[in-house]
Amino acid sequence: MSLETVIDAKGISKSFQRGTAVLDNVSISLRRGEMVALIGASGSGKSTLIRSLAGLIPIDGNARGNGGSITMLGEAVQKNGRLNCSRALRARIGVIFQQFNLVPRLTLLTNVCFGLLGQLPVLRGTLGQFNDSDKRKAMQALARVGIAEHALKRATELSGGQQQRAAIARSLVQGAELLIADEPIASLDPASSRRVMDLLADMNRNDGLTVLVSLHQVEYAMKYCPRTIALKAGKVAYDGPSSALTPAFLNQLY
Ligand code: ADP
Ligand code: MG
Repeated sequence: MSLETVIDAKGISKSFQRGTAVLDNVSISLRRGEMVALIGASGSGKSTLIRSLAGLIPIDGNARGNGGSITMLGEAVQKNGRLNCSRALRARIGVIFQQFNLVPRLTLLTNVCFGLLGQLPVLRGTLGQFNDSDKRKAMQALARVGIAEHALKRATELSGGQQQRAAIARSLVQGAELLIADEPIASLDPASSRRVMDLLADMNRNDGLTVLVSLHQVEYAMKYCPRTIALKAGKVAYDGPSSALTPAFLNQLY
């Protein structure tokens, strides 16, 4: 495995209201090729951390200029409260959410084509903007995630698990090297959850994608992710092998 660091967050903090730190001096780093689970009770800061890493929200800065930093794939995303995520970098990072973030009234095929624009779907003008080559790439990705036969259905006609697989296909088409997923299986039944996690593991193993995935259920972390990072009240409470997580630790974590 290459030793290249692809996620490097150093000393980051975030408060939405003065005096209540949602993230409190968090440092994490992932190397290329890792598949890491992010666990923690509801409200522990998982989504805030993921949104900060994705460059969607600014972290706190301080007057002395040492308010933490986030470097993704070697490029500074945030430094001391200044958020500056380039378009080119955004295209290299796939972001997956619990609620799939597909455009409901568009077909899966069109939704997946949006990955070619290197960003989350933003409706702009006509829907016929994708050419045959774009559509071929999107069809390949839909086949890869096992839902090619649904390509021309609207997102709303599909189950949650199928919609989440379409969101993953969109990241594939985007050419993402790094996938950060915020509770991608939280609203799925066990069979769909396994399919989505199997798919993430397969992309990690066979496409070399680095994966950071927040999970509410620790069993999935244990089964799929060699390493787990646990947050408790905005601080890193554990960072190590998933196999070394003990029932006693997990009891006090939740
Ligand atoms: P998790 O994903 O682990 O459940 P979150 O990161 O969503 O945790 O939330 C951590 C804390 O930050 C919660 O107390 C939540 O209410 C608060 N929080 C999250 N986003 C916002 C926001 N946009 N404005 C105010 N408070 C927020
Ligand atoms: Mg959350």
